[in-house]
Amino acid sequence: MLTDDVAVVTGGSSGNGRAIARRFAAEGADIVVADIQESPREGGEPTHELIEDETDANATFVECDVTNVDDLESAVEAAEEFGGVTVMVNNAGIFHGEEFLEVDEDGFGRMMDINVKGVFFGAQAAAKRMVEADGGSIINLSSVAGLEGSGEFVTYCGTKGAVRLFTYSMAAKLGPDGVRVNAIHPGLIETTMTTDDFPIMGTDAESEFLEAIPSRRAGQPEDVADAALYLASDLSDYVNGESLVVDGGMTNSQ
Ligand code: NAP
Repeated sequence: MLTDDVAVVTGGSSGNGRAIARRFAAEGADIVVADIQESPREGGEPTHELIEDETDANATFVECDVTNVDDLESAVEAAEEFGGVTVMVNNAGIFHGEEFLEVDEDGFGRMMDINVKGVFFGAQAAAKRMVEADGGSIINLSSVAGLEGSGEFVTYCGTKGAVRLFTYSMAAKLGPDGVRVNAIHPGLIETTMTTDDFPIMGTDAESEFLEAIPSRRAGQPEDVADAALYLASDLSDYVNGESLVVDGGMTNSQ
């Protein structure tokens, strides 16, 4: 499905980004993994090495902090080796809960920089090339937290809501140039984000979540990767400025 594609995946070393990179490569895309660290948080081989072992696709790793615009430009530049970026996945993000009255300026700034600025300039870096090439697909990772407010996750919800509206606005701007921009809104997905950073999996909170999820299971990174594959491929050729919710029914089917 992606034999003529070259994808850049930020945060591609771990979790959702790693699953997306592997899924795309299995469909024939060459991959640039752009992350602050090469080794997966969950353990195992670096994503680009795994891809080269398990597929015929080309893959490379670029050290990239998405808060740094030059790093994002370098990640997109690295895709030139394979023919140039056609799919950009702005996936890198951080999550934690916080007491709103205790959020400090540094914590707020860090989450805004990674979750919002990183997505904005990642999309911009890729769009510059895609507009010249008359086509491409940009996929931004939002969250169900970008659809509804939550008193527990005030900063996170704000960042993911911003990603949603940047996605719609970028789609409006870039659509006439053949570039589609869509967002994925995952629900509870089992990655180190939900097992370690802000543990939900394996705690009482997991049972509460499962009660609220009609599919009665947490999502896996592969569920997010399948949605990303749809948005990257020609199957979604007429889908632009869309929010694809991947949450087992948690948000809309209570
Ligand atoms: P994850 O397992 O923590 O993986 C995120 C990856 O991004 C890690 O490799 C991380 O590196 C990297 N990263 C962090 N800061 C970065 C930076 N400044 N520049 C480049 N890379 C950076 O998280 P995940 O669960 O896969 O989340 C991926 C995306 O899905 C995020 O945008 C998240 O908000 C979204 N999402 C996740 C869930 C969920 O339930 N898991 C739900 C909704 C939305 P380090 O390990 O070194 O930090």
